[in-house]
Amino acid sequence: MAKYIFVTGGVLSSLGKGIFSASLAKLLKSYGSNVSLMKIDPYLNCDAGTLNPFEHGEVFVTQDGFECDLDIGNYERYLDVFAKKEQNLMMGSVYKSIIEKERHGDYLGKTIQLIPHATNEIKSRIKQAAKTTNCQILIIEIGGTVGDIESDVVLEAARQMKFEEEAENVSFFHLALVPTITTGEVKTKPIQHSTKSLLSRGITPDFLVARCDKPLTNSAKEKIAVFCNVREENVLHSPTVFSIYQLPYVLAEQQVHSKLSKRMNFELSENSTDKWAPLIEKQKQLSKEKQEVRIAVIGKYATSKDAYMSVFESLEHCAINCNVKLVADLIDSESLEKGKTNLEDYDGILVPGGFGGRGVEGKIQSVKYARENQVPYLGICYGLQIAIIESARNLLNYFDANSTEIDQNTTHPVIDILPEQKSIGNLGGTMRLGGFDVAITPNTLAHSLYHSEKIFKRFRHRYEINPEYVSEFTKSGWIFSGKDPVRTIMKIGELNGHPFFVGTQAHPEFDSRLDNPEPLYLGFVNAAKEYKNKKIKNERQP
Ligand code: GLN
Repeated sequence: MAKYIFVTGGVLSSLGKGIFSASLAKLLKSYGSNVSLMKIDPYLNCDAGTLNPFEHGEVFVTQDGFECDLDIGNYERYLDVFAKKEQNLMMGSVYKSIIEKERHGDYLGKTIQLIPHATNEIKSRIKQAAKTTNCQILIIEIGGTVGDIESDVVLEAARQMKFEEEAENVSFFHLALVPTITTGEVKTKPIQHSTKSLLSRGITPDFLVARCDKPLTNSAKEKIAVFCNVREENVLHSPTVFSIYQLPYVLAEQQVHSKLSKRMNFELSENSTDKWAPLIEKQKQLSKEKQEVRIAVIGKYATSKDAYMSVFESLEHCAINCNVKLVADLIDSESLEKGKTNLEDYDGILVPGGFGGRGVEGKIQSVKYARENQVPYLGICYGLQIAIIESARNLLNYFDANSTEIDQNTTHPVIDILPEQKSIGNLGGTMRLGGFDVAITPNTLAHSLYHSEKIFKRFRHRYEINPEYVSEFTKSGWIFSGKDPVRTIMKIGELNGHPFFVGTQAHPEFDSRLDNPEPLYLGFVNAAKEYKNKKIKNERQP
């Protein structure tokens, strides 16, 4: 029998409910609880695969091949686990399954309604997530903000669970914005209103979490407690922190673990030793350093680092490990195309995953720059494909070489659709998705980083390096150091005679952890550090 903790949000979205939920889970785990996390997204999409990363952030991929919300990436990073597809429920899939059952005749004679049909389906998916992850406590983050029409049905299912389960087995945390206005005054009215909105849906929160700039004063807590019908000791704060990895400690200071164990009647064991604290300290110290290693991440969602969240997190994990202050800038690939940006200030260039033709020529230019100037390059998925296109054009002199994703009529389709993708019509959930083995060739850079002949990485793509061109690329200096163990799919490629020029069809960033950075990313950041050191040395020489 699992216990359930719901986390709702108030006032506005993007408050960091995902980080809060993951931090709470990490805290409970450090006290010996077997915790798992789930996110319910109330919109009508079935998964994140067709959502715009500009609005929703990166599409994270589970090992079992589900395209999900970026918060699942936070769950993996905080708990150091690999999530299952059941841990992200998008409401479109609930409605879809109800409508399919209705068409099949499973509800013959009945009127199908949000209550009980949708709420029952939601409750059963929540219980299924607890079962699949085999946890004692499941923390369920409800996406969106209380008061949104589409999240009402999810809140209703949560309300019913509180009513149906033992009282001690269900708790509610409500996280809402507590802003500070220009006079420096902290305003509690927004959280009061959003709590009222939750109360009107039959849910009394057990804990209120003020999302604020600075820790709350006791008088602010007292006020919130009185107006929101929550005990004062259960009014918590989640202030803005230097590093997102600090939040579990901020919750620990507030004794959230002991308050919850009392409220929900579960045992806590001794706090296990934790590897994060010294790393966060190091991160703080490094941030004060003058010398920095600068990485350019070239993307078309140029104002949204969230669209590449795991990439930026990975880089940060590696920077701490490599003892460098790292500045990773997101560079607009279209501005490169227009010649408005130059890359001279950077010590490493990374082209992340991507789709479609917008800004692609800018990405190709950045690869050319990295290749010709011996600047470390890391290509992720599309970034590998782009590097291959650049080599085809500039090393093999196939001037119109391209991916058939961009140009169907190219005379040199060096990147082409995977054979099994040719007959696929639907775009949702149909890419080559999830974890696959990669065979690593001995005596290659990839092997020296992974120290293994077989690794397991996650993928999300429709296109691949056209096998017909592989031998030509090999002659021009490419070494394919990671391959599918049985098929002709090239999964890692590296260019000879360059200090670090590597691309992978996989998304290794999904595997990176604060205390265990991903090896390929680590190799890249180390190479950028070396590049920087050399640059400084050369500058010093007369
Ligand atoms: N658009 C490319 C493909 O489908 C790359 C995908 C990606 O970068 N995830 O193969």
